[in-house]
This record gives sequence, structure tokens and C-alpha cells, in this order.
Amino acid sequence: MIPVSTFSGKTVALFGLGGSGLSTAKALAAGGASVFVWDDSQAALEKAAEAGFAPYDLREADWSLFHALILTPGAPLTHPAPHWTVVKAQEAGVEVIGDVELFLRERAKNCPHAPLIAITGTNGKSTTTSLIAHILREAGADVQMGGNIGVPILDLEPPAENRIHVVECSTFQIDLAPSLNPSVGVLLNLTPDHIDRHGTMENYASIKQRLVEASDFAVVGRDDAFCEAIFQYLKKLGHAVVGITNSQPHAIGAVRCEAGALRRTFALPAMKTVEEALFDLSQAPALRGAHNGQNAAAAFAVCERLGLTHDRIYAGLKSYPGLAHRMEQVARYGKVLFVNDSKATNADAAEKALLSFDDIYWIIGGKAKEGGVEPLRGLFGKVRKAYLIGAATEDFSKTLEGAVAFEKCGTLDVATAAAARDAQASGAAEPVVLLSPACASYDQFPNFEKRGDAFREAVEDLITGPSIDTPASRAAEDEWLQADGGAAAAEADEQRDETI
Ligand code: ADP
Repeated sequence: MIPVSTFSGKTVALFGLGGSGLSTAKALAAGGASVFVWDDSQAALEKAAEAGFAPYDLREADWSLFHALILTPGAPLTHPAPHWTVVKAQEAGVEVIGDVELFLRERAKNCPHAPLIAITGTNGKSTTTSLIAHILREAGADVQMGGNIGVPILDLEPPAENRIHVVECSTFQIDLAPSLNPSVGVLLNLTPDHIDRHGTMENYASIKQRLVEASDFAVVGRDDAFCEAIFQYLKKLGHAVVGITNSQPHAIGAVRCEAGALRRTFALPAMKTVEEALFDLSQAPALRGAHNGQNAAAAFAVCERLGLTHDRIYAGLKSYPGLAHRMEQVARYGKVLFVNDSKATNADAAEKALLSFDDIYWIIGGKAKEGGVEPLRGLFGKVRKAYLIGAATEDFSKTLEGAVAFEKCGTLDVATAAAARDAQASGAAEPVVLLSPACASYDQFPNFEKRGDAFREAVEDLITGPSIDTPASRAAEDEWLQADGGAAAAEADEQRDETI
């Protein structure tokens, strides 16, 4: 834990006890602050009380007593409307900040030159963060990884000269961290996401821009219009910046991902260039697909900046195990590869997985998002057969009709068994049973992690069981289809949706 000494002897209000909230309260208290905590959820308040923080109703508080409001990134700072605590804080002239800001103030006070790598972007944050941390650790560095991934930032070890903090930052966290000044800032990409929480795409982009603009050295994706504009802007400012790209073959100095390899072109005098072949990504099994090429390029640029030799970086790229539930290769049984991409809760994310494999036995379904799997029609040719589960079954079967063979399976274990059976019997050299559901999980699972775990267990059962086509699976399938075909699950999901 990092005790927050910068509020020692001061009184702060803290709203939001889920996620990192409670660890923030503990870090503030450990540093000598008086913390008044509140949350909308009774369960969260009870948990805080158990940890020694008596709830204090901030609606009734005298806000002139507070030196700061520490806000959860889950509560809106600006859009669609400021949270009521923000309104009260602003009326009383109290600053509103988050846990990343508290970390930054400790770093500034105790060890201002401690290396800090901050990563943001619409997609690929967690992969890139964990990849950078992995490469650095494999190279023997003292690494602390956290923030929006895994461990709350204040639960990490404190900043130190020879300790590298690798921190994933969501836009909400950046917005609550006015003094964010990483040694290396990474902005991967920018596409519309959570715009309801940021007002406009321009506002969303400008928050992300701050992370790289305030860095000592920036690594910026050049594959979308917003990031390219930010890259050009930084260049114009004379900011130290390197581009990463998988769409600009002539970008001088950028780390490119091209035809499955990392490359770079240097400019020489007299308009000459020299091409440098860096790394063949086929040697990194957990980094399949062009999107992971972008993540690998970013990690390469960061680690090179930190002084790692290319050989050390390549060793880390090769041994990177990948993150659970993101195109995670959970098993190979005979010639069949089983891939858990449960994190793909929409068509956009599932597209990345479909692009990364051939001869796909595709498990899809759950609680569908708007548009369903229609946007993926162009990739249906890669799918040998689809296995439908959950509430989206009827909708998705209409989309697939006439384009892809499919089977209504009801539940994930049934689908896994059926897909494995067909993949095994196919003539393909490396068929892939792919769970990339393009749906939320809520109709059958509490979250995408539990869905991915259930897939892994189903695969393990198949592999250790007597046969890949299990009678138990068939019985379960019959039972599910005869019951209500998922209608009850869909109804439960609707009810749950109202409270999310
Ligand atoms: P985040 O932390 O930003 O949500 P993750 O690394 O967890 O991102 O990846 C989530 C999903 O986003 C992946 O399963 C993949 O479908 C997609 N993805 C990963 N990296 C990228 C990227 N660089 N560009 C676009 N999509 C990506």
C-alpha cells in the first residue's frame, strides 16, 4: 500500500466505495487523513464499516470542512451531468480528484523521477499494460502494475528510483488526475466509446490527449484520425513522440506492424531510407491479430525507450502469456485449438478474433447488443459452423440463416462439446473452437470472466472426460431446449438491466 501523506492532518470526503474506493480510503487514513466515506450502495457502506470507516452521509455534510473530494471514476465528473457530490464540492470550492492523482502527488513529493508508464486508449489498454509489465519483469526490472487493471494504484508498492510503475488509465481516471505526468505516456487508439460520459468525441479525445501531452516521452497510435491528429500536434510542439501504426507503411521512424512483423523505417540524408526488420509476431502466440500488432508495437517502443535491448524485448514478446478471456488459448486437444475470448461482448471485439483465425467453430450468444452479429457478415466465410447460446439465439439464427451452418445449443457446455466434436471431425488442419460471443453475459453468467471460466472448465471436462461428444452434454441440451429455450434467461436479464 502507498500511504497518502499529502493529506496528512486534513479532512477529505470520499465518494464511491466499490472498485478502488476502499483501498483509497485505507491509503488516506494510513497517511494521516480523516476520511468521510459515502456510497449509494448499502452493501458498500457495510463493507466500509467493517473495514473501520463509519459511513458519513455527504448530502448532510458541511462541505467547507473538506480539503478534497476523492471521487470514484465510476461517477460522472461532467457528463451527462456532474454527480451530486461534484456539484456540492464545486459550490464549496473543494477540489475533485481520484486515486491516480493521490499516487501522483506521493510520487512528486517523495520520488519525482520514479519511472511511470501510463497507458490509455479505447481498446487494448489491459493487453498493452500487462505486456509492457511482462517484458520488463522478464528483463529483471522491479515492476509494479495496476490502476485500471488488477490492483488499485494505491495498493501497489510506493514509487522508487529503480522501480517502474506500469499503470493503465481509463479516461475517467485521467479526468480526475490533473497532475498526470508520466515518464512515458501511451495512447493506442481512439474510437467512439462511453461518449455519453464525455459529451463529445472531441472532449473524449482531449482528455486522452492530456496523458501523452504531459508525458516526457509519448507513444501514439497513428491508425485513426483522432490519434493521428494528436501525433501531428505533438510533433509540431517538438514533443518527444514516436508513432506506432499498422496502416501507414511509409511512416518514417514509427514502429509498424506489417504482415505479422514489427518493422521500422529510418530516414537517411538525400531522401534515402533504411528498413529495419524488428520482430516476427508469429513467434508470440498470445499476440495474434493486427490489433495485437498495435499493442506489441507500443510495448516495443516503450521498452526500447526504457533502455532494454531488442533481444530482451523479443524474449518478453515471445513468452507473454496473454490475458485471461482475451483470445486466450486455453487448450489444444489433438488438432483442435480452444480459444477463450469471453471479453468480446460486442461485434467490434468479436471481429478481432474472427480476423485472427481460420476454420472457426464459433460459440456466440448471450445478451445481444444493438445490431447483433450483422456487422460481422463479411467474416462469416471464416466460420465453419456457429453454436448459439443464451437469449440471442433466435435473433442470431435469423442473421446466420443461409450464410453459416449453425446449431442451437442453449448453454455453453453443450455448445463447447458440440463445437469440439465438429472441429475434431473436420478436415481442417488447425480448427479453432472459439468462444467470442459478441454479447454481454448477463443472461446466463454474472460477468464475462465467469463465462470465460465456465468455458475453460467445459474444455477441461472434455479433455479429461471419456469422449469429446458427451452424453451428459446431450442430455443437458435436450433439457434446456425443452424447458423454455432461454426465454426465462432473457427476461431475467431485462430485469437486471434496469438496475445496472
Ligand atoms: P481494454 O483494456 O482497453 O478494454 P483489452 O486489452 O482488455 O482492452 O482488450 C479487449 C478487447 O479489445 C480484445 O479482446 C480485443 O478484441 C480488442 N483489442 C485489443 N487490443 C486492441 C487494439 N489495439 N485495437 C483494437 N482493439 C483491440
